[in-house]
Amino acid sequence: AKARGGNVVHFYSQQMFDAFQNRLALEADLKLALLHQQFDLHLQPQIRFADRKLIGLEALLRWQSPSRGMVPPDEFISVLEYAQLMIPVGYWVIEKSYQLLTELQQQGFSELTIAINLSTAQLNDPALPALLDRLNQRYPQAAGYLEFELTESLLANNIPATIASMQLLKARGFRLAIDDFGTGYSSLSYLRQMPVDIIKIDKSFVFGMLDNQADFDIITSTIAMVRKLGLEVVAEGVETQAQAKTLTQHACDIGQGYLFSKPIPAKDIVQRLQDGLDQ
Ligand code: C2E
Ligand code: CA
Ligand code: CA
Ligand code: CA
Repeated sequence: AKARGGNVVHFYSQQMFDAFQNRLALEADLKLALLHQQFDLHLQPQIRFADRKLIGLEALLRWQSPSRGMVPPDEFISVLEYAQLMIPVGYWVIEKSYQLLTELQQQGFSELTIAINLSTAQLNDPALPALLDRLNQRYPQAAGYLEFELTESLLANNIPATIASMQLLKARGFRLAIDDFGTGYSSLSYLRQMPVDIIKIDKSFVFGMLDNQADFDIITSTIAMVRKLGLEVVAEGVETQAQAKTLTQHACDIGQGYLFSKPIPAKDIVQRLQDGLDQ
């Protein structure tokens, strides 16, 4: 609206200034969010296609801001990283996951896994291994049932250092997943060198798989390749029975998506799982 007859340079700099101010305000709010415990976890079920059994949960960060409402993670994770808040918030996510898993185990869900998203800063944090050792001691039952998800794009830079960090996690009994597979630039030779257990095919391919031949071919050949490597393959973003049926036919191991369940607030998870997901 300001553009007509105005100074174009001024318009853009005003816009940039506003964006900068918004970001600073967001950063300040996120600092308070950590202090006032406005973060929460939601957990999304992971289903084994072969028998449609619940086998695990993915922990997804949520921010309930008093002024902004529920803010989705895509809007604040990068700001957390930039403001060097990702490590403390990520540590909160990890500890909360240990607690929840222990609680679920006490309720009889003894084989469930929880998958935790790990950012670049966290993976490279030299303090991470000692932190995990402490948590493994405090929650000894949970230790063998936690997984870490690393996005494919973060694996592309500094491969040797990344592999070394991954090995520190593997040595502690954690399973590792590559997240958003197909969207980054990791080559297949890196995949072979990396101590990875699980590949999660990005949901964008799943969304298109029944309408788009290229997406279908990418999905089915990725499943075949991953299984041939002896790894587990997860399809994200499964929304329809037709997708689930095709993925099952092509021997995809695990599915996650709104078809099975949306992410469930941590405070409801025990009850929801006891009721059965269909309720
Ligand atoms: P992601 O790890 O790829 O997580 C899957 C995202 O897909 C989640 O979005 C989930 O709610 C959404 N989703 C699941 N099933 C479906 C479906 O059937 N259809 C559609 N349209 N979406 C589906 P969410 O929770 O908004 O998280 C977005 C991203 O934020 C995550 O993507 C992850 O990269 C990041 N994130 C979330 N929690 C954490 C965390 O604790 N630490 C870090 N570092 N990143 C996190
Ligand atoms: Ca993930
Ligand atoms: Ca993903
Ligand atoms: Ca993603």
